[in-house]
Amino acid sequence: MTPRKITRTRQNSPARAARPAGNGKGASANASSKTAVQTAAKGAKNGRKASAPLAPGRISAILDILAQTYPGVECALHHRNAWELLVATILSAQCTDARVNMVTPALFKKFPSPEDFARAPLPEIEEMIRSTGFYHNKAKSLSGAAKTLIEEFGGKVPQTMAELLRLPGVARKTANVVLGVAFGIAEGIVVDTHVLRLSRRLELTSATDAPRVEQDLTKIIPRDRWIAFSHELIHHGRQVCIARKPRCIDCTLEKLCNSSDKTWGTTTGPTPAQKPAAPAKRG
Ligand code: SF4
Repeated sequence: MTPRKITRTRQNSPARAARPAGNGKGASANASSKTAVQTAAKGAKNGRKASAPLAPGRISAILDILAQTYPGVECALHHRNAWELLVATILSAQCTDARVNMVTPALFKKFPSPEDFARAPLPEIEEMIRSTGFYHNKAKSLSGAAKTLIEEFGGKVPQTMAELLRLPGVARKTANVVLGVAFGIAEGIVVDTHVLRLSRRLELTSATDAPRVEQDLTKIIPRDRWIAFSHELIHHGRQVCIARKPRCIDCTLEKLCNSSDKTWGTTTGPTPAQKPAAPAKRG
């Protein structure tokens, strides 16, 4: 079936209501979330936007539904410590997490520490990470990050945004991943290609670049949800709200979504609750 766009005036949408992910957490959806979903659905039936996109009740409903749909979601990059996560995140640029996870076991076996990376000839690192793409630049970043870590931070991965940004190859997205996943520090929100796309589709921002999207999101998402929120959106973007053909029929957020990108007729597959995280490109 050829997917077709759904207009905002579409009647009788068969969109599904938010559903729990099967661990019982879904039953705890609060009354305000339900009200926001009901209000949004009513507005959609009337052929108009349901409510102000940034209304606190709507934001709260989106967060609740994401938490119910992806309970306990985690970073898909395999790592045993902050340094390995930093390396894996640098390698994940323009590459799937699955590919990175195929490369890192041998890489960490050959170069177990930042000192080993700092000593390694660039061609040796390049050869081991070639399949992740952009391997010349990535090898330089890994080598440079290891050297800076040793020279300026005693060989330990720093735990502040300002210090992490001093490492070659590390921008805010990578720093946010390391701070959030390795140290549980919510300094910002990870904005990769999925978070950017979904934040726009859900009208949480109108910005088109990652720094401004992050700024907008940090104003409307409670800080204690920053870390999980990005993981949840990334998983939703991989499994359901796919760039070219979003699977709106399977989307737990459908009743809250007014995106002109809505696509109806995309074939359904396993729901997020049934399917493990699929590999996807990181932005
Ligand atoms: S999958 Fe469809 S309904 Fe769900 S957030 Fe994406 S565009 Fe909106």
